Amino acid sequence: MKRRDPPDSVLLTHWAAPEFMLPLFDSHCHLDDPAYRDDLEGVFERARTAGVDRMMTIGVTLETSRKSVGLANARPGVYASVGVHPHDTKECSDGVLGSLAELAKNPAVRAWGEIGLDFNRMYSPREEQEQWFVRQLETARELDLPLIFHERDSGGRFFELLRTCPPPAGAAVLHCFSGTRSELRGYLDMGYYIGITGILTLKERGEPLRKMAAEIPSDQILVETDAPYLTPEPERRRHRRNEPAFVRSVLLKLAEIRRADPRELARRVYDNTCRLYRITADAGDAHAKRPPA
Ligand SMILES: [Zn+2]
Ligand SMILES: [Zn+2]
Repeated sequence: MKRRDPPDSVLLTHWAAPEFMLPLFDSHCHLDDPAYRDDLEGVFERARTAGVDRMMTIGVTLETSRKSVGLANARPGVYASVGVHPHDTKECSDGVLGSLAELAKNPAVRAWGEIGLDFNRMYSPREEQEQWFVRQLETARELDLPLIFHERDSGGRFFELLRTCPPPAGAAVLHCFSGTRSELRGYLDMGYYIGITGILTLKERGEPLRKMAAEIPSDQILVETDAPYLTPEPERRRHRRNEPAFVRSVLLKLAEIRRADPRELARRVYDNTCRLYRITADAGDAHAKRPPA
Protein backbone atom coordinates (compact mmCIF):
# COMPACT_ATOMS: atom_id res chain seq x y z
CA MET A 1 0.00 0.00 0.00
CA LYS A 2 1.22 3.48 -0.84
CA ARG A 3 2.08 5.73 2.09
CA ARG A 4 0.02 8.89 2.35
CA ASP A 5 0.40 11.99 4.48
CA PRO A 6 -2.44 12.66 6.88
CA PRO A 7 -4.70 15.60 5.97
CA ASP A 8 -3.76 18.86 7.74
CA SER A 9 -6.82 18.72 9.91
CA VAL A 10 -5.83 15.42 11.47
CA LEU A 11 -4.83 15.61 15.11
CA LEU A 12 -1.15 15.50 15.91
CA THR A 13 -1.58 12.17 17.64
CA HIS A 14 -2.11 10.61 14.24
CA TRP A 15 1.54 11.26 13.54
CA ALA A 16 2.29 8.69 16.17
CA ALA A 17 1.17 6.02 13.69
CA PRO A 18 4.36 4.22 12.70
CA GLU A 19 3.78 4.59 8.95
CA PHE A 20 4.60 8.30 9.14
CA MET A 21 8.35 8.06 8.92
CA LEU A 22 10.38 10.86 10.47
CA PRO A 23 14.11 11.38 9.93
CA LEU A 24 15.70 10.91 13.37
CA PHE A 25 19.20 11.14 14.82
CA ASP A 26 19.59 10.02 18.44
CA SER A 27 22.19 12.61 19.47
CA HIS A 28 23.14 10.91 22.75
CA CYS A 29 22.96 7.26 23.83
CA HIS A 30 25.14 4.68 25.55
CA LEU A 31 25.12 1.63 23.29
CA ASP A 32 28.05 0.01 25.07
CA ASP A 33 25.89 -0.37 28.18
CA PRO A 34 25.55 -3.94 29.49
CA ALA A 35 21.78 -3.48 29.20
CA TYR A 36 22.19 -4.18 25.45
CA ARG A 37 24.48 -7.17 25.78
CA ASP A 38 21.92 -9.71 24.62
CA ASP A 39 20.01 -7.93 21.88
CA LEU A 40 21.99 -5.10 20.30
CA GLU A 41 20.98 -6.29 16.83
CA GLY A 42 17.33 -5.97 17.80
CA VAL A 43 18.00 -2.48 19.14
CA PHE A 44 19.47 -1.41 15.78
CA GLU A 45 16.63 -3.07 13.90
CA ARG A 46 13.94 -1.30 15.92
CA ALA A 47 15.82 2.01 15.55
CA ARG A 48 15.85 1.60 11.77
CA THR A 49 12.14 0.80 11.70
CA ALA A 50 11.44 3.94 13.77
CA GLY A 51 13.38 6.13 11.31
CA VAL A 52 16.48 6.50 13.51
CA ASP A 53 19.25 6.01 10.98
CA ARG A 54 21.98 7.78 12.95
CA MET A 55 23.08 7.74 16.56
CA MET A 56 25.89 9.11 18.66
CA THR A 57 27.16 6.66 21.27
CA ILE A 58 28.91 8.35 24.16
CA GLY A 59 32.10 7.63 26.08
CA VAL A 60 32.20 8.31 29.82
CA THR A 61 35.54 6.64 30.66
CA LEU A 62 38.53 5.44 28.64
CA GLU A 63 37.06 1.95 28.52
CA THR A 64 33.58 3.02 27.37
CA SER A 65 35.12 5.47 24.90
CA ARG A 66 37.04 2.56 23.35
CA LYS A 67 33.85 0.51 23.17
CA SER A 68 31.96 3.40 21.58
CA VAL A 69 34.60 3.76 18.88
CA GLY A 70 34.47 0.00 18.28
CA LEU A 71 30.70 0.11 17.88
CA ALA A 72 30.85 3.10 15.54
CA ASN A 73 33.52 1.51 13.37
CA ALA A 74 31.45 -1.64 13.03
CA ARG A 75 28.26 0.02 11.91
CA PRO A 76 27.25 2.69 9.37
CA GLY A 77 25.27 5.57 10.89
CA VAL A 78 26.79 5.13 14.36
CA TYR A 79 29.25 7.78 15.55
CA ALA A 80 31.27 7.97 18.75
CA SER A 81 32.38 10.49 21.35
CA VAL A 82 35.25 10.12 23.80
CA GLY A 83 35.64 11.70 27.22
CA VAL A 84 35.45 11.34 31.00
CA HIS A 85 32.10 11.96 32.68
CA PRO A 86 32.15 14.11 35.85
CA HIS A 87 31.14 11.02 37.86
CA ASP A 88 34.28 9.25 36.64
CA THR A 89 36.86 12.01 36.99
CA LYS A 90 38.28 10.39 40.13
CA GLU A 91 39.71 7.78 37.74
CA CYS A 92 41.09 10.38 35.29
CA SER A 93 44.80 11.12 34.77
CA ASP A 94 47.17 12.65 32.22
CA GLY A 95 47.64 9.17 30.81
CA VAL A 96 43.89 8.66 30.33
CA LEU A 97 43.59 12.04 28.64
CA GLY A 98 46.48 11.18 26.30
CA SER A 99 44.89 7.85 25.37
CA LEU A 100 41.54 9.54 24.68
CA ALA A 101 43.23 12.14 22.47
CA GLU A 102 44.88 9.32 20.54
CA LEU A 103 41.53 7.52 20.23
CA ALA A 104 39.91 10.73 18.96
CA LYS A 105 41.95 10.48 15.74
CA ASN A 106 39.61 7.71 14.64
CA PRO A 107 37.29 9.12 11.93
CA ALA A 108 34.20 7.75 13.71
CA VAL A 109 34.87 10.12 16.64
CA ARG A 110 32.86 13.30 16.13
CA ALA A 111 32.77 14.86 19.59
CA TRP A 112 34.45 15.11 22.98
CA GLY A 113 32.23 14.25 25.95
CA GLU A 114 30.32 13.85 27.95
CA ILE A 115 32.13 16.21 30.28
CA GLY A 116 31.05 18.77 32.85
CA LEU A 117 30.02 18.97 36.49
CA ASP A 118 27.56 16.92 38.53
CA PHE A 119 27.23 18.10 42.10
CA ASN A 120 24.02 16.13 42.57
CA ARG A 121 25.44 12.71 43.32
CA MET A 122 29.07 13.66 43.89
CA TYR A 123 30.52 10.36 42.69
CA SER A 124 33.81 12.22 42.27
CA PRO A 125 35.10 15.03 44.52
CA ARG A 126 34.34 18.53 43.39
CA GLU A 127 37.98 19.55 42.89
CA GLU A 128 38.61 16.63 40.56
CA GLN A 129 35.44 17.27 38.58
CA GLU A 130 36.49 20.89 38.07
CA GLN A 131 40.08 20.13 37.20
CA TRP A 132 39.23 17.53 34.56
CA PHE A 133 36.36 19.53 33.12
CA VAL A 134 38.76 22.37 32.31
CA ARG A 135 41.52 20.06 31.10
CA GLN A 136 39.10 18.33 28.73
CA LEU A 137 37.77 21.65 27.44
CA GLU A 138 41.36 22.51 26.53
CA THR A 139 42.05 19.14 24.91
CA ALA A 140 38.88 19.33 22.79
CA ARG A 141 39.92 22.80 21.67
CA GLU A 142 43.35 21.55 20.61
CA LEU A 143 41.72 18.72 18.67
CA ASP A 144 39.00 20.99 17.25
CA LEU A 145 36.19 18.66 18.34
CA PRO A 146 32.66 19.74 19.30
CA LEU A 147 31.68 19.18 22.94
CA ILE A 148 28.95 17.31 24.77
CA PHE A 149 28.22 18.81 28.18
CA HIS A 150 26.62 17.28 31.27
CA GLU A 151 25.62 19.67 34.06
CA ARG A 152 23.69 19.05 37.25
CA ASP A 153 23.33 21.21 40.33
CA SER A 154 26.63 23.03 39.93
CA GLY A 155 25.11 26.33 41.02
CA GLY A 156 26.70 28.54 38.39
CA ARG A 157 30.15 26.96 38.67
CA PHE A 158 29.72 25.29 35.27
CA PHE A 159 29.41 28.70 33.57
CA GLU A 160 32.38 30.10 35.48
CA LEU A 161 34.65 27.29 34.35
CA LEU A 162 33.22 27.25 30.84
CA ARG A 163 34.23 30.87 30.41
CA THR A 164 37.88 29.98 30.97
CA CYS A 165 37.89 28.02 27.69
CA PRO A 166 34.54 28.36 25.91
CA PRO A 167 33.99 26.43 22.68
CA PRO A 168 32.81 28.62 19.81
CA ALA A 169 29.08 29.07 19.06
CA GLY A 170 27.64 26.01 17.37
CA ALA A 171 30.32 23.68 18.77
CA ALA A 172 28.66 22.30 21.92
CA VAL A 173 25.46 20.71 23.21
CA LEU A 174 24.11 20.85 26.72
CA HIS A 175 22.81 17.31 26.80
CA CYS A 176 19.74 16.23 28.83
CA PHE A 177 18.87 19.81 29.66
CA SER A 178 16.87 20.08 32.88
CA GLY A 179 18.10 23.42 34.23
CA THR A 180 16.50 26.77 34.90
CA ARG A 181 15.27 29.35 32.43
CA SER A 182 18.25 31.62 33.10
CA GLU A 183 20.66 28.72 32.50
CA LEU A 184 18.83 27.99 29.27
CA ARG A 185 19.28 31.61 28.21
CA GLY A 186 22.96 31.39 29.08
CA TYR A 187 23.53 28.38 26.83
CA LEU A 188 21.46 29.80 23.99
CA ASP A 189 23.30 33.12 24.16
CA MET A 190 26.61 31.29 23.86
CA GLY A 191 25.24 29.66 20.71
CA TYR A 192 25.07 26.11 22.05
CA TYR A 193 22.56 23.39 21.27
CA ILE A 194 20.09 22.07 23.84
CA GLY A 195 19.57 18.30 24.05
CA ILE A 196 16.02 17.25 24.94
CA THR A 197 15.42 13.79 26.43
CA GLY A 198 12.35 11.78 27.37
CA ILE A 199 12.09 13.87 30.55
CA LEU A 200 9.96 16.12 28.33
CA THR A 201 7.29 13.41 28.22
CA LEU A 202 7.14 12.66 31.95
CA LYS A 203 4.06 13.81 33.78
CA GLU A 204 5.54 15.64 36.75
CA ARG A 205 9.26 15.66 36.18
CA GLY A 206 8.75 17.05 32.67
CA GLU A 207 6.58 19.99 33.64
CA PRO A 208 9.32 22.69 33.94
CA LEU A 209 10.96 21.54 30.70
CA ARG A 210 7.65 21.62 28.81
CA LYS A 211 7.23 25.25 29.85
CA MET A 212 10.58 26.17 28.27
CA ALA A 213 10.66 23.86 25.27
CA ALA A 214 8.85 26.27 22.96
CA GLU A 215 11.39 29.03 23.68
CA ILE A 216 14.38 27.26 22.19
CA PRO A 217 15.11 28.45 18.63
CA SER A 218 14.48 25.63 16.19
CA ASP A 219 18.08 25.75 14.95
CA GLN A 220 19.44 25.07 18.46
CA ILE A 221 17.45 21.96 19.46
CA LEU A 222 18.59 18.34 19.46
CA VAL A 223 16.69 15.26 20.61
CA GLU A 224 18.27 12.34 22.41
CA THR A 225 17.39 9.26 24.41
CA ASP A 226 20.34 9.08 26.87
CA ALA A 227 19.49 5.38 26.60
CA PRO A 228 19.47 3.05 28.50
CA TYR A 229 18.21 5.70 30.97
CA LEU A 230 15.18 8.02 30.86
CA THR A 231 12.67 5.95 28.90
CA PRO A 232 9.99 8.32 27.56
CA GLU A 233 6.23 8.01 27.62
CA PRO A 234 4.48 6.06 26.25
CA GLU A 235 7.22 3.39 26.01
CA ARG A 236 7.99 3.44 29.74
CA ARG A 237 4.66 1.82 30.44
CA ARG A 238 6.00 -1.35 28.86
CA HIS A 239 9.79 -1.04 28.84
CA ARG A 240 12.11 -0.18 31.67
CA ARG A 241 15.13 0.10 29.39
CA ASN A 242 15.34 2.98 26.91
CA GLU A 243 16.73 2.58 23.38
CA PRO A 244 17.35 4.81 20.33
CA ALA A 245 14.03 3.91 18.61
CA PHE A 246 12.19 5.74 21.39
CA VAL A 247 13.67 9.12 20.44
CA ARG A 248 10.70 9.33 18.10
CA SER A 249 8.41 9.86 21.11
CA VAL A 250 10.60 12.76 22.29
CA LEU A 251 10.35 14.40 18.87
CA LEU A 252 6.57 13.94 18.71
CA LYS A 253 6.09 15.47 22.16
CA LEU A 254 8.34 18.38 21.21
CA ALA A 255 6.29 18.98 18.04
CA GLU A 256 3.08 18.90 20.05
CA ILE A 257 4.38 21.49 22.55
CA ARG A 258 5.77 23.75 19.83
CA ARG A 259 2.70 23.27 17.62
CA ALA A 260 5.06 22.33 14.84
CA ASP A 261 4.69 19.97 11.91
CA PRO A 262 6.49 16.84 13.15
CA ARG A 263 8.15 16.13 9.83
CA GLU A 264 9.49 19.67 9.46
CA LEU A 265 10.70 19.75 13.04
CA ALA A 266 12.31 16.32 12.68
CA ARG A 267 14.16 17.48 9.57
CA ARG A 268 15.46 20.59 11.32
CA VAL A 269 16.55 18.74 14.42
CA TYR A 270 18.26 16.12 12.27
CA ASP A 271 20.13 18.83 10.36
CA ASN A 272 21.11 20.55 13.63
CA THR A 273 22.63 17.30 14.89
CA CYS A 274 24.59 16.78 11.69
CA ARG A 275 25.83 20.39 11.86
CA LEU A 276 27.05 20.00 15.44
CA TYR A 277 28.81 16.71 14.79
CA ARG A 278 30.05 17.83 11.36
CA ILE A 279 28.40 15.03 9.45
CA THR A 280 26.97 15.70 6.00
CA ALA A 281 23.20 15.47 6.11
CA ASP A 282 22.63 13.38 2.98
CA ALA A 283 22.04 9.70 3.39
CA GLY A 284 25.09 8.82 1.32
CA ASP A 285 27.41 9.81 4.16
CA ALA A 286 26.23 7.21 6.61
CA HIS A 287 29.76 6.85 7.91
CA ALA A 288 32.10 9.10 5.99
CA LYS A 289 35.35 10.52 7.23
CA ARG A 290 35.50 13.79 9.10
CA PRO A 291 35.64 16.66 6.59
CA PRO A 292 39.10 18.26 6.26
CA ALA A 293 39.66 21.14 8.72
ZN1 LIG B 1 24.79 12.98 31.08
ZN1 LIG C 1 24.86 10.28 28.79
